[in-house]
Amino acid sequence: MARPMFVVGNWKMYKTAREATDYIEDLIPLVEGSKANIFLSVPFTSIAPAAQYAKDTNIAIGAQNMNDAREGAFTGEIAGLMLKEAGAAFVILGHSERRHVFGETNALIHRKVLRALQDDLQPILCVGETLKEREAGKTEKILKEQIFTALDGVPKEDADSLILAYEPVWAIGTGKTATDRFIQEAHAFIRSCLSELFGKKKADEIPILYGGSVKPENAGEIAALKDVDGVLVGGASLDPKTFAEIARASGRQAGETTRETSAKTSAKKKAAASSASEKKKKAVSPKSRQRKSTKPRTEKKE
Ligand code: PEP
Repeated sequence: MARPMFVVGNWKMYKTAREATDYIEDLIPLVEGSKANIFLSVPFTSIAPAAQYAKDTNIAIGAQNMNDAREGAFTGEIAGLMLKEAGAAFVILGHSERRHVFGETNALIHRKVLRALQDDLQPILCVGETLKEREAGKTEKILKEQIFTALDGVPKEDADSLILAYEPVWAIGTGKTATDRFIQEAHAFIRSCLSELFGKKKADEIPILYGGSVKPENAGEIAALKDVDGVLVGGASLDPKTFAEIARASGRQAGETTRETSAKTSAKKKAAASSASEKKKKAVSPKSRQRKSTKPRTEKKE
């Protein structure tokens, strides 16, 4: 089936807000008309200005992490609602640096996934094994644990908002890329886990990205693999020209129709719903207008 293609840049702790907007100015013409969805995951301080610069373009801005609470006395932390209001459309969760440098557990990542969905942020859930686990033949066991814990209790209708990223820890920032066969096998396994959780039809629609030393030279080949729906790029996303080359190489695999991201669809649906509700207002009684609105839901993709 034709799934949308995603090219996601993860800047990690690089670029000031000024550098971020300069970058986006350079990137806009380079990726105009791209068949892939272009996502940039930027530091917190760059989200608002980057989202402003990327407004009305094909570039979506997101965050690299968030807290699992709605709000509270958590000094130094950031809430999903704050990211959303600043202009983030998505958030990377469970990145290997969060797991292995900051000690995030599967249970915490699970709570963050649920919170992101409640806050209408599209989660990009990263999973992947370490070299030791791979050498011990535990890749599938680790992936299964990470996926089943993180996605426990995610309602089937919210599965439409999920993106997964397979990032073998040993391939991140090391220049080592997994072989095509290894990547395809891991992605097919991840899809089988999603199928167990949400059913085959939904699982077939969830994008699964590959991350780990992706560069212009290998992006096209990786993106062409059957169960790969795009790439998550760290180091090579820091230069707009290199990132645009990766987008071009991956976009060639994207088919003719790029489906809208759930974040964009959600915004459009909300706009349509609000204009429809404006029209309806005259017809409803004051009492029914006072009824509490339901919690914002993540919209389904078309
Ligand atoms: C990443 O940060 O998710 C990543 C894949 O990094 P790199 O492309 O530098 O390996």
